[in-house]
Amino acid sequence: MSKSSIESDIAQGLHFIDEATGGVVPPIQPSTTFVRDADYELLRGRGYARDHNPGFEHAENMLCRMEGGADAKLFASGMAAAATVFQSLAPGDRVVCPSVMYWGLRGWLVDFAKTWGLDLVQFDATQDGALEQALDGRPAKLVWIETPCNPTWDVISIAESAKLAHDAGAVLAVDSTVATPVLTQPIVHGADLVMHSATKYLNGHGDVVSGALVTAKEDALWERIGVLRGEGGAIAGSFDAYLLQRGMRTVFLRVRQSSASALAIAKHFENDKRLERVSYPGLESHPGHAIAKTQMSGGFSGMLSFMVNGGAEAALAFIRRLKLFIPATSLGGVESLVEHRYSIEGADSPIPENLVRLSVGIERVEDLIADLDQALG
Ligand code: PLP
Repeated sequence: MSKSSIESDIAQGLHFIDEATGGVVPPIQPSTTFVRDADYELLRGRGYARDHNPGFEHAENMLCRMEGGADAKLFASGMAAAATVFQSLAPGDRVVCPSVMYWGLRGWLVDFAKTWGLDLVQFDATQDGALEQALDGRPAKLVWIETPCNPTWDVISIAESAKLAHDAGAVLAVDSTVATPVLTQPIVHGADLVMHSATKYLNGHGDVVSGALVTAKEDALWERIGVLRGEGGAIAGSFDAYLLQRGMRTVFLRVRQSSASALAIAKHFENDKRLERVSYPGLESHPGHAIAKTQMSGGFSGMLSFMVNGGAEAALAFIRRLKLFIPATSLGGVESLVEHRYSIEGADSPIPENLVRLSVGIERVEDLIADLDQALG
């Protein structure tokens, strides 16, 4: 690996030069199978694309460099990456996770824990000491956290969670989709596994569904995860892996711009009487700001939420009046999106009805502020 900074290495795709052609961009290798030699041994260490794909190895190496990990693996989606971690556990294993985290994963996990026989304990990340209480001095296998937590942006201390998890004999896995390796490197703070929905900031252009795991060390758990990925077939496609490495080349620029704009928006509307509250970890008024400062550098992400005065109807009316923010799910792209999580999650959602989630893109921030201002009425 070169001695240049991570940012330069990523901008140049790890200084890639194609040996066959001199191209500075990696080729897309769509082959599903790889030729063997006369003794029927693997010729280049690869046999079949469900286990080995030169295309996703490049994106994996880039992500591994960004996270400072020992190895990385691409998956078909963020959900596939997370599911593979939970599938590596055995029935009866104790798992602890926050009660507010990415809704799709929480729902899947609650259901999966029942059928797989996991002892799943949830904790309220807004309460001091909640993780310690949930661990309850008993052994556990996995502590799963997400920080900042989607869509309330509660901040969880990675270092403290790592200590508590390790004391309980558990591995700490961090869903770092929102923070991205640009702002936080969970492994530096003690995490064992990092998970990304690469669909979001890593790719950044709304045209790839993909996920990834990064490990701090290549241990038995990592080996098991690799086997489950290959045998379960939760792999990324060659073209998606190509698009992802292309998206990652600009991730530093995009995440910094989105974070700067989100902070400007949060500050602009922080004391606006039309809002009950603005939730953004970059605001000093945010309960998780002090922890965020210890584990996020260069920004606090492009994600924030407005709690609009007047409940669900007022929130929906505000969304209807927006002209620049696109009403669509997902996050972390170059285009700004707005979402009413409660409408998506339904009546048993723990998310406030008046919460409007904003994913801030890279448009001119003055235009974004003007749009929000006119839509608040
Ligand atoms: N984690 C977070 C924080 C997410 O926001 C999402 C998707 O929205 C996921 C995980 C799941 O990722 P994917 O949609 O790529 O399966």
